[in-house]
Amino acid sequence: MHYSTESFDDMGPVGQDPRWAAFEPFHEYLQTTFPLVHSTLNRTKVNTYGLVYEWGTAGPISAKPILFAAHQDVVSVENTTVGQWTHPPYSGFYDGQRVWGRGSTDDKGCLIGILIAVETLLQKGFTQPRRPVILAFGFDEEISGFQGASELAKFIEGKYGKDGVAMIIDEGLGFSEQYGTPIATPGISEKGSFNMQLEVRATGGHSSVPPPHTGIGILAALLVQIEANPFEARLTRSQPTYATFQCIAEHAKDVPQDLRTVVLQAAESDNALQALESIITRDNVLKSLIGTTQAINIVQGGVKSNVLPERSWAVVNHRIGATSSVSDLKTRNAQILETVAQRFNLSYNAFGTQVFGDAASLPSLALTDISNGGLEPAPLSPTSTTDLPYQLLSGTIKAVYSAHRGDFQGETSDIVVAPGMMPANTDTRHYWNLTRHIFRYSHLNGGKNGGSQLNWGIHTVNEFIPVDEWLENIQFYTTLILNADEATDL
Ligand SMILES: [Zn+2]
Repeated sequence: MHYSTESFDDMGPVGQDPRWAAFEPFHEYLQTTFPLVHSTLNRTKVNTYGLVYEWGTAGPISAKPILFAAHQDVVSVENTTVGQWTHPPYSGFYDGQRVWGRGSTDDKGCLIGILIAVETLLQKGFTQPRRPVILAFGFDEEISGFQGASELAKFIEGKYGKDGVAMIIDEGLGFSEQYGTPIATPGISEKGSFNMQLEVRATGGHSSVPPPHTGIGILAALLVQIEANPFEARLTRSQPTYATFQCIAEHAKDVPQDLRTVVLQAAESDNALQALESIITRDNVLKSLIGTTQAINIVQGGVKSNVLPERSWAVVNHRIGATSSVSDLKTRNAQILETVAQRFNLSYNAFGTQVFGDAASLPSLALTDISNGGLEPAPLSPTSTTDLPYQLLSGTIKAVYSAHRGDFQGETSDIVVAPGMMPANTDTRHYWNLTRHIFRYSHLNGGKNGGSQLNWGIHTVNEFIPVDEWLENIQFYTTLILNADEATDL
């Protein structure tokens, strides 16, 4: 936590932007803190600051490796909020229960936890895993991973081939008590994302003889139209959130009987599926997991109080639901805005296609993609009883949950493992080629009432990690390495 490895939206390439140098002392710290890791594993620096550690790959590779991912960078600490931190953001202050600081939960807790697991195994004489282990630590996850994970992916795929990895574990939601039962929800997919810019150009001039609508007025009407037409959230049986509910209805203790009935019936009955959909869509958080969302996050226009605005623009951020796609979203947005464009007699260009009007005439509306093609929703990692990586993960979660509570026979493992939907993106967005078996999961106890580590100050002031929860996560990494080593047919 002492190393402010912050990544910023406007960061230039490695080698040009001097701010990347902040990662160097962090690398030195890792090297001195984990001597056995550094003397045993083969470390490669990819694009200077990306770290790949390979373990057990010296001999002939007989099994596909298991890959643990984490990211070194953290979101920046707003200067104006430093005073609001109970303990300074880069203090790493330990109060006997929690470690405080930027990155404690997101994601240095996981990164350091993985290294502690490996260092400890080496200390105990587990030096030569039969199944290779790869650690891949990106350095710009918080700004989409284009310099870090993207380059790490090329390196790993170049060496191990497409589908050359058995399974990937990266940061994700952990477990918490829901309906009286601990439920773990490894993310088997991630939502896609897309940023759309709307740009209205209009004739400028002196504002003493204005048209009935300025560019800003037209833009406002377009934005009202967007918010008046939210995406419909549809529940289908292929969605992770549907699977989460199925597991909860079947295994959680205190699910209200009527909810349990609806969920179980939804497996066969379309009416019950619709009833479940309306239950889910009444909750804004659950609704965001199944559908596509939209948020107007930037608006700009005008330069002077007596000058008509020539250019006004806004940016809408979308997170794309598992059953939709970037192209569906573009088509749908172009249609929604068409009536408004007609009403104001705009020339209208949607994502490069001139829908109507002359491209050069004003006023005009242009919709553009400002997210480099956007990101499709992640493919679903398979979770059936014959999909061994998911079964291995699930069994490991159960075993660790029991062992951490003193039961090494697993007799009391009442934790339920249910496929979940990851609401945000991780470095795994760059790892789809490496394996179909990607799980976004940190074994962290979010507490009761469906709590999660999202309440631990992630991306805001007073980030912390509770140490008992952190230790259990290290136990999880250790057990998973050992279990994967014994599993011969992953
Ligand atoms: Zn993170």
